Amino acid sequence: MANSKYEYVKQYELDDSLLPGCWIVVRIDGKGFTKFSELHGFEKPNDKRALDLMDECAKEVLNEFPDVRLAYGESDEYSFVLGRSTDMYGRRASKIVSLLVSCFTANYVAKWAAFLPDTPLRSTPMFDGRAVCYPLDSNLRDYLSWRQADTHINNQYNTCFWALVKSGKTPTEAQATLRGTQTAQKNELLFNEFGINYAHLPEQFKKGSVVIRRKTMVEVKQRADGTPVLRERNLPTVLHTDIIREEFWQEYPHLMAP
Ligand code: ATP
Ligand code: ATP
Ligand code: MG
Ligand code: MG
Ligand code: MG
Ligand code: MG
Ligand code: MG
Repeated sequence: MANSKYEYVKQYELDDSLLPGCWIVVRIDGKGFTKFSELHGFEKPNDKRALDLMDECAKEVLNEFPDVRLAYGESDEYSFVLGRSTDMYGRRASKIVSLLVSCFTANYVAKWAAFLPDTPLRSTPMFDGRAVCYPLDSNLRDYLSWRQADTHINNQYNTCFWALVKSGKTPTEAQATLRGTQTAQKNELLFNEFGINYAHLPEQFKKGSVVIRRKTMVEVKQRADGTPVLRERNLPTVLHTDIIREEFWQEYPHLMAP
């Protein structure tokens, strides 16, 4: 249909390219996962199987798109960071967001049965997505710190909430008990009433998941005698670590490199 009389409609497509030179963060979030998690009997407050599935899908996004250099996930959300100088799809927001979302979602469906083998998929998981530009390195660091602080706050609240509900309180009563409580009070409540030491909960629940590429030895083939041939590969790796503190960024300086 090149040069047809219809072609003028193409001009209605607006330029949505993201600001040059800025960090690009794409955050995706599950649609209606409060219901989705109930429908599929997720363990509350944290179903490890579902979190592992999210982490696996994020690794696949890094495998598929070399320009994604870092990802951070918690609950039903993941943030993907693209380098300042990326030219992926001409930095067009709709292209980048839609590809990351569909890559993630397709993997979520394809890998569901491997992570929740006893739970048939009963509805269609969907994820929304948005792209945000951050001009300063400090903006990006603050963005990631914001998400990890959110993980901690939510996890602490949800751990208390579900402990109260599982002990027989109604959700309304549990909410009322927790209203206005500070961090220290929540930790005391968990320890004194339920014998839960918050510090001993899994790091994945408390800190969320960071995905970066790390040098890893992998078996590429076997010799005739059956011994493995190992090669170093840069593979997406999931860490459950503190990304607010400076040490993480000192350990992996390439993450913030231009
Ligand atoms: P929206 O469509 O606006 O995002 P939502 O119901 O998905 O609505 P969120 O704020 O994204 O709301 O919250 C995600 C919900 O999914 C929370 O209620 C959380 O408890 C639940 N959830 C996500 N992952 C898990 C998990 N691994 N284990 C247990 N519950 C989970
Ligand atoms: P891009 O990522 O830029 O979209 P592309 O390879 O997908 O690259 P398109 O212009 O979208 O390029 O073209 C779609 C291609 O897929 C064409 O080559 C088309 O022949 C092929 N294709 C799509 N659907 C079918 C189909 N049902 N049967 C055979 N070929 C198909
Ligand atoms: Mg939401
Ligand atoms: Mg959601
Ligand atoms: Mg969410
Ligand atoms: Mg195409
Ligand atoms: Mg096409």
